[in-house]
Amino acid sequence: MPKKAGKGLMEKGAHMVRRKAIDPGGDPYLNKAAPQDMALCKRCGSIYHEKRWYKRDDLPEKLSQTPNTDIVFCPACQKFRDNYPEGYLTIEGKFVEAHGDEIMNLIANKEDRQLHINPLEQIIEIRRHDGHIEVKTTTGKLAQRIGRILQKTFSGEIVYKWSVDTKIARVVWWRDDE
Ligand SMILES: [Zn+2]
Repeated sequence: MPKKAGKGLMEKGAHMVRRKAIDPGGDPYLNKAAPQDMALCKRCGSIYHEKRWYKRDDLPEKLSQTPNTDIVFCPACQKFRDNYPEGYLTIEGKFVEAHGDEIMNLIANKEDRQLHINPLEQIIEIRRHDGHIEVKTTTGKLAQRIGRILQKTFSGEIVYKWSVDTKIARVVWWRDDE
């Protein structure tokens, strides 16, 4: 298990890159041995077929009756179990103290529809602290997407930082006025 999420990553300005899209690089969980086709994730219900994971509802209809041969954890649920986030989103600033509930509700409401376009993108943990909220996600892209939704909804500022190998993304959204 790569331990790349060390403190060095969080240093201000370190490895700071601005890009439109994150290239996740080699995801160690995707590079593990593929399950048998078809496989069912016992935690989230995603289905593996022909080298990709489908949300159960997105499975082509002709496949939906096919028996699942292998019961596994999908890469996202393995990261969840291992507490191995590849995306970190910090939500901070004065605005968060005054509008924390709205932010939490926005993330919860969007989670099922917009955030989970890809079953491999899941929120591992949302933790609300005094004055800031920390979100851990299975992919950097999901942390980025939530940050963009916050910016679209509440304005504010956003910055993206990557580890040198681009596996781990840190996204910070903040708004200083209430
Ligand atoms: Zn799963």
